[in-house]
Amino acid sequence: PDEDGAVAGATPMMAQYLSLKRQADGCLLFYRMGDFYELFFDDARIAAACLDIALTARGEHDGEKVPMCGVPVHAADAYLARLIRAGNRVAIAEQVESPAEAKKRGGKSLVRRDIVRIVTAGTLTEESLLDARSANWLAAACPAGGEIGLAWADISTGQFCVTSVAEAALEAELARIGAAELVSPEDWDGAPVDAARRARADFDSIRAEAQLKQLFGVATLDGFGRFGRADLAAAGGLIAYLEAVGRGSIPHLAPPQKIEPQDVMAIDPATRESLEIARSSAGARGGSLLDCIDRTVTGGGARLLGTDLSAPLTRRETIEERLDFVAWFERDPLLRERVRDTLKRLPDVERALGRVAAGRGGPRDLAQLRAGLEGAAELKRSLQAMADRPSLLDDTLGRFGAHGTLTDLLSRALVAEPPVDSAAGGFIAQGYDAALDELRSTAGDGRRAIAALEARYRETTGIQALKIRHNNVLGFHIEVPARHADALMKEGSGFTHRQTLAGVVRFNAADLHEQALRVTQAGDHAIAAEAAHFEELCGQVIVEAAAISQTATALARIDVAAALAERAAEGGWTRPLMTDEPLFDVKGGRHPVVEQALKRDRQPFVANDCRLEEASRLWLVTGPNMGGKSTFLRQNALIAILAQAGGFVPADSARIGIVDRLFSRVGASDNLAQGRSTFMVEMVETAAILAQATPRSFVILDEVGRGTSTYDGLAIAWAVLEAIHDMSRSRCLFATHYHELTRLAERLDALSLHHVRAREWKGDLVFLHELADGPADRSYGLAVAKLAGLPPQVVARAREVLKRLEAGRQASGGLAAGLDELPLFAAQVKVEDDDRDALRERIAAIQPDAVTPREALDLIYELKRLA
Ligand code: ADP
Repeated sequence: PDEDGAVAGATPMMAQYLSLKRQADGCLLFYRMGDFYELFFDDARIAAACLDIALTARGEHDGEKVPMCGVPVHAADAYLARLIRAGNRVAIAEQVESPAEAKKRGGKSLVRRDIVRIVTAGTLTEESLLDARSANWLAAACPAGGEIGLAWADISTGQFCVTSVAEAALEAELARIGAAELVSPEDWDGAPVDAARRARADFDSIRAEAQLKQLFGVATLDGFGRFGRADLAAAGGLIAYLEAVGRGSIPHLAPPQKIEPQDVMAIDPATRESLEIARSSAGARGGSLLDCIDRTVTGGGARLLGTDLSAPLTRRETIEERLDFVAWFERDPLLRERVRDTLKRLPDVERALGRVAAGRGGPRDLAQLRAGLEGAAELKRSLQAMADRPSLLDDTLGRFGAHGTLTDLLSRALVAEPPVDSAAGGFIAQGYDAALDELRSTAGDGRRAIAALEARYRETTGIQALKIRHNNVLGFHIEVPARHADALMKEGSGFTHRQTLAGVVRFNAADLHEQALRVTQAGDHAIAAEAAHFEELCGQVIVEAAAISQTATALARIDVAAALAERAAEGGWTRPLMTDEPLFDVKGGRHPVVEQALKRDRQPFVANDCRLEEASRLWLVTGPNMGGKSTFLRQNALIAILAQAGGFVPADSARIGIVDRLFSRVGASDNLAQGRSTFMVEMVETAAILAQATPRSFVILDEVGRGTSTYDGLAIAWAVLEAIHDMSRSRCLFATHYHELTRLAERLDALSLHHVRAREWKGDLVFLHELADGPADRSYGLAVAKLAGLPPQVVARAREVLKRLEAGRQASGGLAAGLDELPLFAAQVKVEDDDRDALRERIAAIQPDAVTPREALDLIYELKRLA
C-alpha cells in the first residue's frame, strides 16, 4: 500500500481498513463508522459468534463478499467486556479528523482513522469492564539464568511485583497470581499454553534494568529489592507489552516489589482448587473462603484481602504483626465501626488514579481523588491520636503521603460534583480562574440577552407562540407556527428564513445572531480553558502518582485488618498462636464456609479438635460417607491459611506451627478433571506431594486411591501413607473408607486413628459429625445407600451379599490378608546391597523442587523398577 493505504483492487475504505488491521497486531479491529464499530472478515465471524449478533456482508473484496458485523458505539463497553472475557484482544480505530477536515485535505475525502486504544484482559482501566473487588493482573513469564522470572502488574492500580521460581513451581505461582492475561517469549517451549507470545527481544534483562531505572528515576534498583536476571527479564517483557498496548505510553506503575518465594506458603493449583480459596469449584467468588470472610468496605481492601489470602505468609514476625493489628481492632468494636464507616465513604482512590494515569480519567476521577485523599488524611489524624497502636498500623500510617497541596488545589479548582466526562466543561469551580469566570459571565449575559430578545420579538410581531430555540445544526434560531410564518417572511421584517418543517418555520435575525455568536464563542473558549485546566490538574496528580498509590495501599491495609476483626467478632473466632515447631493443635475448629451454609438452614455445625504433633503427626480418619471427613480435613487446611494470611480462625483455640507448603488432594471420583484418566490425575498429583512435601508441610488426602480397583486402591493408599509417614514426615490428615488401613497404626508410630461418629437409630443412619479416637467400628455403607434412596429390596439383597462376603473375609483374612507379614517400608528398601546402592544414588539425585508432577510419577515407576 502507498501512503494513503491504497491497495490494488481495494476501495479506499477497504485499503484503510486493511492497513489498520495490519497494525492491530493480531487484535480484533473495531473500525469506527458513524455510530458503529464495524468488524470485517474473520474478526466479524469471531465477534458475531461470541456476541451472538448478526453476521452480514458488505461490498466485495477480491471478488468475494466481505463478512461484517457491528456494535453500536454507545453500547460498546458491554460488547467489549464479552469479547475480552472470551479471551480476545481488541484494537479500536477511531476517526481522528472530521469529514470537513478530510475534505480540506483534498483528494479522496476518506476520513483519517487511527488505532487509539488496545483493550486486553490484563490492561483494563475502565470501571465498567473491571470488578471493583478483584485485582486485574497482567503477568509476564520468562526463563533466564536457569530460573523462571515472573512479573505481574495491575495497571488499574499500579501495583507491580516480580519473583523468580524453579520451573517446577511455575504453575503454582501462576495459580496464586491468577492473572487475567499472560505474556511470554515466543521461542520458549516451556511457556504456559495460554500465554500470548511476544518477541524475545522484549524480555532482555539488561534493557529492562535500564528502563526500570529510567521509569522510576533512580540510579540503582537496590532500594526496591534485589533483582536477578530472571526478575528483570520478566519485568522487561511486561513493560514492553504495556508499551505496545498503550501505543508507546506506559501507564502508572508503582516501583516493583520483589516477592521471595520462601516468604509465601506454597499452594499448588490443585490444592487451591480443592480448598476453594478464592474461587469455588464452580469458578465464582461466591462459595469460596475469600467470599466467606470478606467484610472489607472498600474495593482496595477487597483486592488486598484477595491477594493476602492467596499468599499466606511464612515468616512468624510478619504474621504476628498482622495479627496484632487485627487484634487491636477486634478488642475495640466502637473504634472498628468508626474506622469502617469512614472507609466506606471513601471512593476507590487506586482505580481513579489508574484511569487518570492512563489518560482515560475525567473530572469525576479528580473529585474522587480529592475526596479519597482528604478522607485518608482525616483517618490518619484520628488513628495517630490513638494509644497502643500496633506496629503494623504505625508502619501503615507512615506510608500515607502528604497530599495537602494537591487536595487544596483540587478543592479550589473543581466544583462539588463534577461530571464524568470533561468534554462539555462545567467542572472548574467559580473563582479558580478569573478569565474563565469572565468567559462564563459573557456567555451568561448573552443567554440572558437572548431570553430578552424572545420577549421583544413576541411584542414586535404580536406572535405569542414565537420561541427562540437551539439545536446543533442551526444554533440559536426563531421558531413560529407555520400559520404565523408569512408575517416574518415579508421583506423588511428583519427576519431571515432558515428552514420550513411540517408545522413550524424557523428564522434568524441580526441581533439574535450577534448574541448567539457571543454565547458560542465565549462558551467555546470556556470549554477550551477548562480542558487546559483539566490537563494541568491531571499532570499534578500524575506527579504524585507513586505517593497516592502508597496512600491507597495503606487505606486498603487498614480496611483488611478491620474487616478481619469484624469477621472474627461476628463468628466468635480466635487469634491463632503461631509457633515454629511442626505442631497443629486446634480446639473446637469449624469450617467457615460449611458453617455459614448450615446456618442459613438453621443447622448447627459440630466443632472438632485436631491435634497433630511429633508423636501423632498423621491422622487416619475413617467413617461412613457423608460423615464429615472431607469437611474436617478441609477446615484444618483453611485454618492454617487464614492464620498465616494474618487473620483470626474459626476455632476456640489454635496453636499452629508455620506451614511451608500446603497440599490437598481429593480421590479421583470426586474430581471431574477432563482429558486424562481421573485416576492418572490423582496419581500424578500424589506423586507431586511425595516429591515436594517437607516436615514443615501440611497435607490433606481425601480418599486417595479411590479411583481404581479395591486392591490397587488400598495398596496405593497404604504405600502413600507409609511414604508420608517415613519420608516426607509432614503433618497429614488422611481420610479413607479402606478400613484395612487402620492396621497401619500398629507399625507407624506417628499415625493415630480417628473416625467420624454415626449411629443407627430405628434403622436409619444418623451422622453426628463428631470426631472420636480410634477406628470406625463398621462401614455403614448399606445404611448410607438406604439413606440415599436405594429401593428397599435392593438394600435387603445387598445385606445378604454382605453377610456372605464378611463370612468369606473371616475365613480368608480379608482384603488385607497377609499385610501383617509385610516388612516395614524402610526395611523393605534394604533388600539387597546392590539394589539399595542404586536406589540410594537415585534418590539422592532427586531434586524435589525441580521435578514436575509428571516427572515425579515417572520417578516412582523408576524407583519401583529399581526396588
Ligand atoms: P464425607 O467426606 O465423610 O463424605 P462430608 O465432609 O462431605 O462427608 O460431609 C457431608 C455433609 O455433612 C456436609 O455437606 C455437611 O453438610 C455435613 N457436615 C460435615 N461436617 C459437619 C459438621 N462438623 N457439623 C455439621 N455438619 C457437618
